[in-house]
Amino acid sequence: MMGNVMSEENKVVSNEEESSRGLSAVRSDGYTVFTTPLEKILGDKTAQAFHSLKITTVEDLLFHFPFRVAERGKLVPLESVEEGEDVTVIARIIGANLRQGYGRGVSILTVKIADGVKNIDVNFFAKNYQTLLWHKNNLPRGATAIFSGKTKSYRGQLQLTHPDYELLSSANVSELEFMRPIPIYHATTKFPSWRIQKAVDVIMPMVSDISDPLPFAYREEHHLPSKMEAIRRLHQPETVEEWHQARKRMAHEEAFVLQTILAARAHEKKNIHVQGYETNELLDFFDKQLPFELTEGQKSIGEDISRDLASTVPMNRLLQGDVGSGKTLIAMRAMLQVVGSGGQAVLLAPTEVLARQHYEKMKELLGARLYDNSRPRDEQKGAVKVELFIGALKEKEKKAALARMASGESALIVATHAVFSSNVILPFLGLVVVDEQHRFGVEQRAALGNTHTLMMSATPIPRSIAMSYFADIDISNLHELPKGRAPIETIFVPSYSKTWVERMWQRAREEIDNGGRVYVVVSRIDENQNEEQSSPFAHAINEFIPLDGESEKKHLASVIQLADELQKMPIFAGISVSSMHGKLSPQEKQKVMDDFSSGRSPLMVSTTVIEVGVDVPEATLMIIMDADRFGLAQLHQLRGRIGRGSRSGLCLVVSDVVDGTIAYERIQTFVKTRDGFVLAQKDLELRSEGNILGHEQSGRRSNMRFLNVVRDGAVIESAREWATRVVDQDPLLGNHEVLRAEIEKIEVENQEFLGKV
Ligand code: ADP
Ligand code: MG
Repeated sequence: MMGNVMSEENKVVSNEEESSRGLSAVRSDGYTVFTTPLEKILGDKTAQAFHSLKITTVEDLLFHFPFRVAERGKLVPLESVEEGEDVTVIARIIGANLRQGYGRGVSILTVKIADGVKNIDVNFFAKNYQTLLWHKNNLPRGATAIFSGKTKSYRGQLQLTHPDYELLSSANVSELEFMRPIPIYHATTKFPSWRIQKAVDVIMPMVSDISDPLPFAYREEHHLPSKMEAIRRLHQPETVEEWHQARKRMAHEEAFVLQTILAARAHEKKNIHVQGYETNELLDFFDKQLPFELTEGQKSIGEDISRDLASTVPMNRLLQGDVGSGKTLIAMRAMLQVVGSGGQAVLLAPTEVLARQHYEKMKELLGARLYDNSRPRDEQKGAVKVELFIGALKEKEKKAALARMASGESALIVATHAVFSSNVILPFLGLVVVDEQHRFGVEQRAALGNTHTLMMSATPIPRSIAMSYFADIDISNLHELPKGRAPIETIFVPSYSKTWVERMWQRAREEIDNGGRVYVVVSRIDENQNEEQSSPFAHAINEFIPLDGESEKKHLASVIQLADELQKMPIFAGISVSSMHGKLSPQEKQKVMDDFSSGRSPLMVSTTVIEVGVDVPEATLMIIMDADRFGLAQLHQLRGRIGRGSRSGLCLVVSDVVDGTIAYERIQTFVKTRDGFVLAQKDLELRSEGNILGHEQSGRRSNMRFLNVVRDGAVIESAREWATRVVDQDPLLGNHEVLRAEIEKIEVENQEFLGKV
């Protein structure tokens, strides 16, 4: 990947290295050192060990960065070590105890290590006493060593069992103060950090230069080292400060490359003109017949949008507003401005359930101006035909819908992803509204062509993130909720309290008896999910994208199981409990929703498929099981499913979290706050702490390994400014070859990502 942007120098490998490592063969094959398999340099055994880390070439190894450095003179704090982690720590041996097993029993060696803050035990077990004696002699009291292994908890105490270790030489120990910082790599127990370090030390001298996508002047302005220098400093820093600078430089590079992509898109769009749509009689009519007053926010944002639509510059606007704040109504008015002036407008919904719901709502809101199929056409001048276009349509219905859309007869279209199919023709398309935009990929949003675009989200994102994802965007925030909204109370239910839990189910029964509906949401575990994501644009945002699919499968069992258990509980006698999850067919989902809505089945156990936008005004109680598994934004979305009618709502968050943990703090924040903007910010703050050990430690190739979109707002801002200038002067990046190659690489990866969706 990097190979193609390398300068000639990269191929230069000193003769000495070549002959000793057998690199001549590599060269005659025409490879650069980057693509050289590690076998050729480190030998089969070491290279094999690297395979477990998905590292096979010199390039892979070079870009496998340490996630931490052990600071000079300071020991890596044992205190921060957590259960179940693969860790590498530097500690002093403060004692050892060897107990011989009886008869043929197992002997145990316990070595106590300390770093001045905390002590932990290191245990070795063996049948052979001599083996342990050997270890004991290797680990003399007072010596300092690096230990690497997996931590376990035994009787509440953390311990390391059978770690690999390496004694720092006595010379090193006394000179610890003067040592270079020690890089700590993401490693495995079998293949510890210092072996990676040694391997890097071998390959580093072979790489003499790496071409740099950052313009020299940019680097100068920000005092950033070259890419080659930064990579050296990441692996072999002389000081911790150097290491941090190198990381900062990489963050700048990531921001710069990304911003160039966005600037190039914005540049392309500059020359694009679209049809403008004036306000019209249809919109006036609609406004007059609305059963309520628009909120101030709806009015002023509506004016902004109206102005955008009248212009020939394509609108690109993100509307953020809490669940229930009335975004859909704003969207509807925008669509009517287009439709009433001869255009077509599409509302894209992330799920079929939502699409149907929007469809029904729009028909209802249109009132007298809804086109009625049963009446003659000429009596219905100015009436609007609303079309629902979803995957669940039967072949015949689909054909008819396609024809109506292609002829322009259907002007107001509510659709799911199905609308991206190639036989959809919308000749008069003037506006695309994307509901819950974070559910759609960047490219998907663009796929409908150049039109006015309105994106909507109930999960507000900070400006720095918005700038990282969108080329050119106006943001409208809808802060107030429509009047007369019922209050929602949120209460934490400790799952370890039987009394609480019993009372909770009792409350559910009461709610149902009073004509309410009850959601019970079961969490998904998505431990592996974020790691797999690979869209360069979706690092932070993906964290709160609820995805179905794999994880949905895992929890299918728990939804059905819980539904089953509840159905059997005496307290729910005579009540039909349903379950809802991503594996149901669209028809089944619709049936469950209908039964829930009508009250035939007033208790629904569900995965987060109901998270987005579902509107059942009778729903009054939301029970969220294992609430700590959800992000704050997600919890907030779930809570938004209740209190939608006039009756007050209750949200019960069930969890076993205990005071003093981040998880507990998150739940408490959620209990206390109903402001979606506050929660989103808090979510990001709490996440970015976790991030430091999360993504960056994972060591995966990604296009945003160093840039933190929450923290690095200033970096992004500056990169954006520069990138815009670069693109304005040199739109095709003819004079920025390295940068262009880097971008092409990312776009290829992005396509692969989209291909998978
Ligand atoms: P969002 O999409 O932001 O979650 P919706 O647009 O679905 O919110 O609005 C939620 C409910 O509030 C809908 O039933 C809608 O008809 C109603 N609503 C919207 N605007 C107002 C308003 N200004 N006054 C009263 N009710 C409103
Ligand atoms: Mg909505």
